[in-house]
Amino acid sequence: MTTNVSAYAAPAANAPLERTTVPRRPVGEHDVLIEIKYAGICHSDIHQARDGWGEGIFPMVPGHEIAGIVTEVGPGVTRHKAGDRVGVGCFVDSCRECEYCRQGLEQYCVKGGTGTYNALDKNGEPTYGGYSTHIVVDENYTLRIPDGLSLDEAAPLLCAGITLYSPLAHWNAGPGKKVAIVGLGGLGHMGVKIAHALGAEVTVLSQSLKKREDGLKLGADHYYATSDPETFTALAGSFDLIVSTVSAPIDFGAYLSLLKTDGALVNVGAPEEPIALNLFSLIGGRKTLAGSMIGGIAETQEMLDFCAAHGLGAEIEVIRADQINEAYERVLVSDVRYRFVIDTSTI
Ligand code: NAP
Ligand code: ZN
Ligand code: ZN
Repeated sequence: MTTNVSAYAAPAANAPLERTTVPRRPVGEHDVLIEIKYAGICHSDIHQARDGWGEGIFPMVPGHEIAGIVTEVGPGVTRHKAGDRVGVGCFVDSCRECEYCRQGLEQYCVKGGTGTYNALDKNGEPTYGGYSTHIVVDENYTLRIPDGLSLDEAAPLLCAGITLYSPLAHWNAGPGKKVAIVGLGGLGHMGVKIAHALGAEVTVLSQSLKKREDGLKLGADHYYATSDPETFTALAGSFDLIVSTVSAPIDFGAYLSLLKTDGALVNVGAPEEPIALNLFSLIGGRKTLAGSMIGGIAETQEMLDFCAAHGLGAEIEVIRADQINEAYERVLVSDVRYRFVIDTSTI
């Protein structure tokens, strides 16, 4: 039976989020019903709730950093049982057949996969995300949250954690590598923690020095302000890998000048406007400009296990549901330390 559950939704693009109800499908053969405990606020939620990427489906219930407890399982479920601590990230299904799905790279599914919200499910109904009390998800698209992580600090790992872990692992951040993280927000602060735990020498490139003390505590070895032009002179040719988490367009040419020959600048930020780039900034040092999107299910589990083993929860500010709109405003002015997490019992 379809059940209506409480949620917070943006009724239309740019409208404040408000309390509502949304339908959840009956628990199918391979589904789990999850009582959501915490949902992180990702900057992607804000881009989409304000229709900054276009083609948004409204009303929209954002939220793809979900942590909760399984309360019911379908008859064919083998991975979970009632009482298990689980997470859900940015997608809840994919084609399961394409070359990327078969390799565990479901985030790059040729058919596009099914977003946790702002997408159409295989049954043609819109998906609704984690700013809600319950969700029904196929067991193959849920993650196990290890005991060493609290649910509130684990929630942001389902997007922010994996979005940084995947490129850091792919581009071999580790001992002997100089890695810079651009932007110390939700994604960036997890990037600093994970890159440090992987053994890399980590530099934060932030707009100002306001968060320097925090950055060093999170595991950074160095911290520079990008508002100071001297930073770009001092650090020219320094890094093996730079990961940009910036949510707005920036001068990628300037950041490419900070790479060593053969270095890579990996962008994970998803600004609403395109950028211009002088291609001479790439050819001089055989440099790579790349992108990366979240991670597959197996890699997300690997990341959760890694974070639990290293004690790497997110730095969070837990809020009530009626503070979501205020939290959005604070994220937009980079006033977040370092992830807002909604206590969904207040929905
Ligand atoms: P966030 O918490 O707002 O962090 C972004 C950080 O970027 C800010 O804290 C700020 O850091 C810096 N920044 C913001 N505006 C800037 C500007 N105009 N110039 C320079 N720096 C600026 O956001 P988030 O949740 O980490 O997400 C960041 C971006 O990644 C968003 O666009 C989001 O949609 C995208 N995203 C992508 C993926 C993926 O799979 N690729 C996954 C999740 C999110 P400082 O204050 O330190 O300068
Ligand atoms: Zn996200
Ligand atoms: Zn696929």
